[in-house]
Amino acid sequence: MSFKVSVQPAGRDFIAEPGQTILDAALAAGMVLPYSCRNGTCSTCRGKVVSGSYEAGVAPERILDAADLAQGYTLFCQARPTSDLCIEAEEVRMRGDIVVRKMPVRVQALTPLATDVIELTLQLPSAEAFNFQPGQYLEFLFKDGSRRSYSMACAQVHDHRVQLHVRHMPGGAFTDRLFGGTDQPLKARDILRIEGPLGSFFLRDDDRPIVFLASGTGFAPIKAMVEGMLARDDRRPAVLYWGGRRPADLYQADLARAWQAQRPGFTFVPVVSDARPEDGWAGRTGWVHQAVMADLPDLSAHQVYACGAPPMVEAARRDFVHLCGLPPDAFYADAFTSEADRAEVRA
Ligand SMILES: Cc1cc2nc3c(=O)[nH]c(=O)nc-3n(C[C@H](O)[C@H](O)[C@H](O)COP(=O)(O)OP(=O)(O)OC[C@H]3O[C@@H](n4cnc5c(N)ncnc54)[C@H](O)[C@@H]3O)c2cc1C
Repeated sequence: MSFKVSVQPAGRDFIAEPGQTILDAALAAGMVLPYSCRNGTCSTCRGKVVSGSYEAGVAPERILDAADLAQGYTLFCQARPTSDLCIEAEEVRMRGDIVVRKMPVRVQALTPLATDVIELTLQLPSAEAFNFQPGQYLEFLFKDGSRRSYSMACAQVHDHRVQLHVRHMPGGAFTDRLFGGTDQPLKARDILRIEGPLGSFFLRDDDRPIVFLASGTGFAPIKAMVEGMLARDDRRPAVLYWGGRRPADLYQADLARAWQAQRPGFTFVPVVSDARPEDGWAGRTGWVHQAVMADLPDLSAHQVYACGAPPMVEAARRDFVHLCGLPPDAFYADAFTSEADRAEVRA
């Protein structure tokens, strides 16, 4: 039996087929709700069911505690309606030319950016358009049915190519292939299959000052957003806090410094959490989201775009909203969840 899902405040509705999640049903009906990982490990699609019944599925406790669940909060990528529903959710307005497609891509180059970060350049088919909003991601589709997500590190396709920044997760099924940890290394000219563009992590039209917050390769989609702003001469005030354990983790800090020199109203604050004497680090230290809070204790008039390690993203969401007055709907994020996070949810 199918069910009608009404979305407030948009005043729109769509049909969920039996067994379909609320998110999948919305996307199938052409309505984009905020989403990122699609497997219950981040909180981007967290929203409220106002009326009706549903199976909530699994969600990590750090995203939904017992009180949240009792109030009707759920993850729309996990929840399946068991009656007609009314939900509260932002309707994401995508650019009209964004179409999600599957296509083959050729690995054009693997360029080391740091000891554990590779820039992967993909050659797209010349006959197919691949338009995306800076900040979105694509998924690699593997023969065994598994998928891996990576954010575009460029503002648009150039010469039928896009770049990704991939960090090695030792023991990881895909990244071990990039960093030589398996007998099936990924090489230039290999063909992979992708689906994209995906996700709702992109700059919203607004004139509030922006806080960009990145850890590690969470810099990739932020780079795409900033390059998009530079290309269209968007002059919103913006500050980028980029955190890593050691200075070398901030693998394109010179680029971020160049943006600061080039664009009035843009500031770059590198933050290192585990500097050693041999690093000679004289800059900010500690957790990157706490550096934001120290500098900007009142975030009530800002928008935040955060990306990177899931614990960093969740700590920023919680602390910015509860301690710095950030409106919950002014926090946009992609958390780079992996199989380890999925295993934690399933446990
Ligand atoms: C929306 C989104 C965008 C992303 N963008 C980027 C990006 O731009 N750049 C980037 O570097 N990453 C990005 N990621 C993360 C990326 O998708 C992968 O998760 C990451 O690269 C690891 O993939 P892998 O196949 O190498 O590792 P996986 O196979 O996912 O394993 C990851 C780690 O978990 C361990 N592990 C595997 N299975 C289990 C298990 N059952 N129990 C416990 N531990 C386990 C592995 O040993 C390894 O250490 C993004 C993620 C999302 C959701």
